[in-house]
Amino acid sequence: MGHPPGKNEPGLTTTIVHGDRASGVEHGGLRKPIHTSVQYGFERVEDLIGVFQGTLKGGFNYARQGTPTTAALEAKLTRLEQGAGTICFSTGMAAISAVFLTLLRAGDHLVASKFVFGNTNSLFGTLRRFGVEVTTVDAGSVDAVRAALRPETRMVFVETIANPGTQVPDLEAIGELCRERRLLYVVDNTVTSPALFRPRGVGASLVVHSLTKTIAGHGVALGGSVTDTGLFDWRDCPAIFEAYRGGDPAQWGLLQLRKKGLRDMGAALSAEQAHQIATGAETLALRVRQSSDTALRLAAFLEAHPAVARVHYPWLASHPQHERARRWFQGGSWLLSFELRDAARTVEVLNRLRLPIKATGLGDTRTLVIPVAPTIFWEAGPAVRADMGIADGLVRVSIGLEDAQELIDDFGQALGA
Ligand SMILES: *Cc1c(COP(=O)(O)O)cnc(C)c1O
Repeated sequence: MGHPPGKNEPGLTTTIVHGDRASGVEHGGLRKPIHTSVQYGFERVEDLIGVFQGTLKGGFNYARQGTPTTAALEAKLTRLEQGAGTICFSTGMAAISAVFLTLLRAGDHLVASKFVFGNTNSLFGTLRRFGVEVTTVDAGSVDAVRAALRPETRMVFVETIANPGTQVPDLEAIGELCRERRLLYVVDNTVTSPALFRPRGVGASLVVHSLTKTIAGHGVALGGSVTDTGLFDWRDCPAIFEAYRGGDPAQWGLLQLRKKGLRDMGAALSAEQAHQIATGAETLALRVRQSSDTALRLAAFLEAHPAVARVHYPWLASHPQHERARRWFQGGSWLLSFELRDAARTVEVLNRLRLPIKATGLGDTRTLVIPVAPTIFWEAGPAVRADMGIADGLVRVSIGLEDAQELIDDFGQALGA
């Protein structure tokens, strides 16, 4: 597991731990320091003008638009996703909001997977209020996506492995469809991360991350990012403002996201948080390998347990999109869910667990469990839960770094004989 390096391409962890040195070392320090300055001054006023006009390479202006610390993280993410450029935000939701609010206009139409992060789905309601039409479909079939397209459709949005049901969309065929129809293809790679999957390979235009989860991994920092893969022709995006259409079209998307999304909307990632995320990212491949191995072992154990009705995990042969996951991903990830046969026992079983923590959140070093229906899908109501396949006894598990056997033993005692 771990992304196999291509010819002459350094491995994932090598890229992460040595990436900082590419942009110049300060005082011999191996790690990028935390630059806390909000303002940036210049000897020559020409440079101050240059930073405003984008002609001063590597210049900083005001920390809301970026700092040397966030820029180092952006460069790292760009390399990890093999993209053309990245912009970081204060949270994953800020990154996703910036994509929708700056690259769509009133009258535009968005087609999205119906199996997306709950707050992303909630955001669709806000978009509709501003005159952006949103259609959600089961993106497991490219035909459903194709059938939803309209002349005004500008963007398709999917997640690689959906939470909590672990559905895997028809990523490659949707990429091909978006290329044909010249649509922005936005892939949320939060759960898989570049350790398991690079959406550029299936034609994604933009890759978004909640850096809070897999990339940082430690649950002590919030962050988000948008990477432009360089595959989309920005001349096909009518939302780009006239002011940003001057230079190289390859830069238009990033320019608009940084100016309209980050500068104007203001959800900037702090230098301290960027540093925490960059430090966490150094162990990305190691963590994902371990948690994916543990998740598969636990999934297999749960699947064989008489108290469990179903297990949702892409690396299990029983998963409806198992073949796809095997083809595109390097592992099954740390996310799994399972349904108890007797939903009425859910609270009692989870209370008996000693090791996993009863908590919301994903991609932590600790294993986290949550009963889905009465918590994260409570606000959605029973009709939406039924439509999304959320059974009353569904339990989501975010696998941490504990020893696999200890977790299995603990689930075993909690489920009972
Ligand atoms: C958590 C999450 C988000 C939102 O990220 P935050 O950093 O919590 O704002 C978006 N997409 C997915 C798939 C997530 O799991």
